[in-house]
Amino acid sequence: MDLHIFFLPFLAPGHMIPMIDLARLLADRGAKATIITTTENIPLIRPTIDLANSSRHRQIELLAIPFPYSESGVLEGHENLTTFPNPDVTPEFYTAINMLEAPFAQLAKDHHPDCIISDIFYPWSASLAHDLGIPRLIFNGTGFFCNVVVGAVGRLKPHENVTSDEQAFVVPEVPHRIEMTRSQLPDFITGASTYFLKQLGDSHRFNYGMIVNSFYEMEHDYIDEFKERANIKIWHVGPVSLRNQDLHDKLVRGDKASVDCDRCLSWLDAKKPGSVLYICFGSLGRFTRTQLCEIASGLEASEHPFIWVVRCGGELSEWLPEGFEERVIRKGRALIISGWAPQLLILNHEAVGGFVTHCGWNSCMEGASAGLPMITWPLFAEQFFNEKLIVDVLRIGIAIGVKVCCSKEEERMMVGREDIRRAVNELMGNGEEADGRRERASGLGKMARRAVEEGGSSYNEMSRLIEDLLNLKAGKIQSSKVGE
Ligand code: UDP
Repeated sequence: MDLHIFFLPFLAPGHMIPMIDLARLLADRGAKATIITTTENIPLIRPTIDLANSSRHRQIELLAIPFPYSESGVLEGHENLTTFPNPDVTPEFYTAINMLEAPFAQLAKDHHPDCIISDIFYPWSASLAHDLGIPRLIFNGTGFFCNVVVGAVGRLKPHENVTSDEQAFVVPEVPHRIEMTRSQLPDFITGASTYFLKQLGDSHRFNYGMIVNSFYEMEHDYIDEFKERANIKIWHVGPVSLRNQDLHDKLVRGDKASVDCDRCLSWLDAKKPGSVLYICFGSLGRFTRTQLCEIASGLEASEHPFIWVVRCGGELSEWLPEGFEERVIRKGRALIISGWAPQLLILNHEAVGGFVTHCGWNSCMEGASAGLPMITWPLFAEQFFNEKLIVDVLRIGIAIGVKVCCSKEEERMMVGREDIRRAVNELMGNGEEADGRRERASGLGKMARRAVEEGGSSYNEMSRLIEDLLNLKAGKIQSSKVGE
């Protein structure tokens, strides 16, 4: 029996990229996958889908729906969060997201999918699937540790018992001792941003289950804990990024790379194994020029070779320290990528030995899959929770020390060059601690790769997911959440 799945990714790279990986994984296992996005987001996905279709018998379909500019008030050309000055989703963008329901519903009526896998940010897909009488599964963009800790903080409110934003509190009822401060909590917990939350909460009533980009060996305590509390089915099928083993897949994933592939590879090939540091703050992480200059100085002072992905308007020469280009770039010690980097290609090159990350969940998973120790530099959203997993639970990272969760670069605390130099030397250097961290990271990378191989934990979860969906389709099992 065939399974036809509709995929509905949210319009930001950190959501679209892993859902495309997931669609490809399900297509590999025999499902027909149809991905729906808005017109201007099609070119970001099309090359990946064309590659996948050229090498497989099954077709993955990509369908476009128009973005409702005039009705929502979003300015032309802003169909993806990367085009906004900061990562906060504006009310107009939310309006547009809600307006996608009608054209999506029409496609669903025309194509008769057996199931919808929706991003968590489309609450309306819940009632739509319910009306169509098919299951709706959500793809949760973050991991179990984050879900459990957010759940505990939301439920027990330990942050309300401290007297200042900087005073640490211990997160109660979680498997490890996790200390945080109120300043590290995102708006959706402290209550400053309630828009959408009610809708999200309501939509959970109609979830058949939740798919998570994680693997058992990485977060088993938190997976067990989460499963105990959740009243829906859960499948952990990651790291989904490991679907991209082919060089071409890595080069087109998410967007066209802003660096020549051959140049990037020959630069890396010329470096010693494990000697290069890769620095990237995701698809939305921006900094002030003063902070960028500080990062440049810290990296230069560390004396390690590095690849740094920079997202800023204007020329590098406008903010790089005086003489940096001659001393560092022209001498071949650094490669700066202005724009989109082929992250998986770089992380998995043997010359790379460390990763400075903003702790977006995909980057955490990709760094862990590559077996790399990390310097954690969270910026906003749930990134501070992910930092705790990397640093305190898995012990494969060093925290750079930021304490304030903040989406606007001009309001963020400054990290000085000396702190950056120290962290880089600690991560990339030798000694018992650095070696231990490297060993743990490398072990985790091996477990990640095993998890997605045939017979591995995530592979088996994927089999369970497909079996469940097929049984549902055949009417062999009923879900109280579907059609209730
Ligand atoms: N990414 C990339 N090149 C870049 C920036 C990001 O390939 O220059 C990819 C990265 O590999 C990851 C995704 O974009 O898959 C970013 O997701 P993440 O959750 O790490 O962070 P976000 O961008 O959502 O903050």
